Amino acid sequence: MNKELISEGVCIYCQEKIKQQQMTKHIAEHLTVLEKEKKTTGTGAWHIKIESGEMFLHLLVSGNDTFKNLDKFLRDIWVECCGHLSSFSHKNFKVKMADSFDNVLSPLLKILYEYDFGDTTYLDVIALKRYQITAPQKITLLSRNEPLKLMCSICGKVPAVVICPFCCMEEYALFCAKCSHIHTEECDDFDEDMALPVVNSPRMGVCGYEGGVIDKQRDGVYEK
Ligand SMILES: [Zn+2]
Ligand SMILES: [Zn+2]
Ligand SMILES: [Zn+2]
Ligand SMILES: [Zn+2]
Repeated sequence: MNKELISEGVCIYCQEKIKQQQMTKHIAEHLTVLEKEKKTTGTGAWHIKIESGEMFLHLLVSGNDTFKNLDKFLRDIWVECCGHLSSFSHKNFKVKMADSFDNVLSPLLKILYEYDFGDTTYLDVIALKRYQITAPQKITLLSRNEPLKLMCSICGKVPAVVICPFCCMEEYALFCAKCSHIHTEECDDFDEDMALPVVNSPRMGVCGYEGGVIDKQRDGVYEK
């Protein structure tokens, strides 16, 4: 994806828009304050980050919750197309779906998530820090990138709304509604029935993926 894309998200605690590179530190400041304010010791929760290029999710997960629930969450927000297999793994040890975060995570540990062992979507799961607080729910979405400024690769004037599933690994595969018919002439495999929607997910364009089932208001096309 285009290296000049600006990726930013809204922080759940203060509603400010923060750049991808600053978000980890920004959310850590809120969580540190929350931890200090708590008079009783909580059950413990991890701040984790899921990344794929410019796309990111910052989550607060309950320490005793399992990778199985994270798998479900990632499917719901970012990857589920037709029920493929998925896994979490680390280069030095096995991660089972039934494992709890507290049993596996340590600060800055990086785990690989794979969805679909054919057309695989790879996500980095990065443990940031454990806080002695009680998470409000098993998994809380603290922030995610707003829809990226993906413009039509032909006219460059308006945000792209469709992607060619055959060219989706290339930068020129995103089109506005008007220009998508031009691509039917350039691309041997494409016709407009096969166009997939531009969505705010690393699985965009793959295996008929049409978007998530949660947080749908931020899962769409770039708007000024
Ligand atoms: Zn904030
Ligand atoms: Zn599929
Ligand atoms: Zn266009
Ligand atoms: Zn194409």
